[in-house]
Amino acid sequence: MSPLLDIDDLHVSFRAGPPWRKRDVPVVRGVSLRVAPGEIVGLIGESGSGKSTIARAVVGLAPVSAGRITLGDDMARRSRARHVQMIFQDPVASLDPKMTVGAQIAEPLAIHGIVPARERRRRVMTLLGRVGLPESAYDRMPHMFSGGQRARIGIARALAVEPQLLIADEATAALDISVQAQILNLLMDLRDDLGLSLLFITHDLAVVRVLCDRGIVLQGGRIVEEGAPETLLEAPRHPYTRALFAAHI
Ligand code: ADP
Ligand code: MG
Repeated sequence: MSPLLDIDDLHVSFRAGPPWRKRDVPVVRGVSLRVAPGEIVGLIGESGSGKSTIARAVVGLAPVSAGRITLGDDMARRSRARHVQMIFQDPVASLDPKMTVGAQIAEPLAIHGIVPARERRRRVMTLLGRVGLPESAYDRMPHMFSGGQRARIGIARALAVEPQLLIADEATAALDISVQAQILNLLMDLRDDLGLSLLFITHDLAVVRVLCDRGIVLQGGRIVEEGAPETLLEAPRHPYTRALFAAHI
């Protein structure tokens, strides 16, 4: 099966330093990875290792210095905005505090013009059910919900446009462990029911073991190891992977 996401030798650099000595600082240094349809891939690495930059490059928010990012059968740039959705750690920051949950989930439907206005409410109700929220959430404001529920709202909003790939950037990092487990279950259900592919960015190895088909370990903008989560956890080959895992026990 051809990959849904194919990142080939990606390099990303940022201009940094004082004005009199600006230089290009490489942040992603030759990363190649693939995500197959319906696959859940974990991207693991310490803070600053370049995980978010890779995610941002996929959705066109970080500059690609070299390399290639291909989506599906090379989705047009325009459809990329729809078929790849991102969810973040802090759904409070990504949700508009002044907009009802219903309006918030319906917004991407309007932006992408994929559901006629009169059918949007119905679609949002379906999405609420899909992520395990009651229909009564529709008219409420985001602050009335717990962290886990806000994560569900963020997922419903991301799902509204029926993406093929969801990139979760530390999306469950701020949640209590039991709430986090519920969200991971939801993500696995979405994969099973919708065939959704997931690139799950995390520094938490326990999560990778529960959720991911495959893990990729990033250090300093390079992939140092990848494989089945159990293999990474039980027999890490690279010293960095070992150190990373030891730090989490
Ligand atoms: P991670 O998500 O793994 O914590 P990031 O991809 O956010 O890492 O960041 C990797 C490195 O790139 C960090 O050193 C960060 O400071 C730097 N960086 C990220 N975005 C920018 C930017 N827009 N301009 C300059 N440097 C950046
Ligand atoms: Mg990050």
